[in-house]
Amino acid sequence: MGYQYDTTIAAISTAVSSAGIGIVRMSGPEAFLIADCIYRGKNEKRLSEQKSHTIHYGFIVDGEETIDEVLVMLMRGPRSFTGEDTVEINCHGGVYVVKRILETLIDYGARPAEPGEFTKRAFLNGRLDLSQAEAVGDLIEAQNKYALQSSVNQLKGCVRQEINRIRKNIIYHTAFIETALDDPEHISVDGYGVELKGNVEEWLGDIRRLLDTCDDGRIIKEGIRTVILGKPNAGKSSLLNVLLGEERAIVTDVEGTTRDVLEEHINLKGISLNIMDTAGIRDTEDIVEKIGVDRAKDYADQADLILYVIDSSRPLDENDCEIMRLIEGKTSVILLNKSDLEALVTVQDVEDMYFTCNPGGCGDKGESSVVDHQSCDNESNPAKNKGILMVDDDRKTEIKEFKIPVIDISAKDMKGIDHLEETLKKLFFEGNLAFNDEIYITNIRHKTALSDAYGALERVRDSIDDGMPEDFYSIDLMDAYEALGNITGETIGEDLVNEIFSKFCMGK
Ligand code: GDP
Repeated sequence: MGYQYDTTIAAISTAVSSAGIGIVRMSGPEAFLIADCIYRGKNEKRLSEQKSHTIHYGFIVDGEETIDEVLVMLMRGPRSFTGEDTVEINCHGGVYVVKRILETLIDYGARPAEPGEFTKRAFLNGRLDLSQAEAVGDLIEAQNKYALQSSVNQLKGCVRQEINRIRKNIIYHTAFIETALDDPEHISVDGYGVELKGNVEEWLGDIRRLLDTCDDGRIIKEGIRTVILGKPNAGKSSLLNVLLGEERAIVTDVEGTTRDVLEEHINLKGISLNIMDTAGIRDTEDIVEKIGVDRAKDYADQADLILYVIDSSRPLDENDCEIMRLIEGKTSVILLNKSDLEALVTVQDVEDMYFTCNPGGCGDKGESSVVDHQSCDNESNPAKNKGILMVDDDRKTEIKEFKIPVIDISAKDMKGIDHLEETLKKLFFEGNLAFNDEIYITNIRHKTALSDAYGALERVRDSIDDGMPEDFYSIDLMDAYEALGNITGETIGEDLVNEIFSKFCMGK
């Protein structure tokens, strides 16, 4: 198969800045002919007469003018990334020289490529499915080793394989129903609903498992949404600066300095945190600061992780109680900051206040056989470790086990930061997110398509349960089939294809 383009495209594929080398890439039916016009090598043979997958040393020239000394790589279609004839010119990486080479290619007949156009051609020529093409974009954007690993897996085709497997099963059963309906004399669908229902349940399970990875997938790709909470002057900005390793937030001892929310992206031991420094939480008459406080509460609601900073040199008060209520049920770590000063707050004080402020506070499951789960939501994320209410059956008294990690730190002296990093890694990436070859859905478009397919299959199951006629099943089965096809790009419209590739960077 092939999507024949009559244009040859060219672009600078490396970053346009001074660098050791730069690469100008050209793809399309005239790539070799254009290269012949502008390349001079020692060898008498023209590039278009050379073997595929070879590299040639020579010069790029524009008429009499020599532009650069280069290595030219030749890849004849369909054995190239785009599936077309491709020429890659490795030149010196000066901003002017790479632009000059690109201009020369354009003067001789190439057209400037649009963002992502090489990958789009690879997709349309069947070299990649859409999930793999998107993985190329994700790989370029990857900010940490987990994101990189996930996009490499997707690039290798693991998402495509899983989706295609489910689609193949769906189409098989749809085809059977359609054939049976067309030929009722020879093919009977009696009792078929029961068999189909078993399959539908299985596919629903497969899709549910993929959907369940979306949260981890988002964390892998975008980082852990982290909010730093604490009263004014607890040392939130100082902590952020320590984590960032630079003076980004303004640190002062005037309360309420941090009025807006600063957002920073940091890498800690291979995990990405999208960390937000918020205004101190307290009752305030100051309107500007109040907006920050409200926003802090909103952010806390959406956060994957809360870092609650306490100034351990000052006693806890009502405002701390409010923050303790805010973190109940959230994955959080409490930091007793200013450990270089005399401590007025102990871990015990924190626990006592936590349970006073959250009398029904409960949390993680599976920690102990005597944990009372009656009023707890049974979320499976082990990182959500909060206070746990335990009931000792013998003594009939309540023992409250406190599960939030509490760490002594000094943002000023940079003490305890290693301990914090280790704790975060344990919370998110050990056991819970042991990264292996599993598929993680990191793409919101894939998530939507999976949800659509799931909904359609639920309708099939309902139709079977309600004893509806078989043609009802096949309509919804086809909906599920098409929704899944959106992921691999098999059932996707041209507009959406264009939109997806327009988000790619230039030259890719
Ligand atoms: P925020 O309002 O919570 O963002 O607090 P800041 O980070 O602006 O810090 C408030 C004050 O506490 C500043 O004077 C900091 O220098 C000081 N501070 C922050 N962390 C520490 C620490 O670990 N030890 C001591 N002694 N002072 C600290």
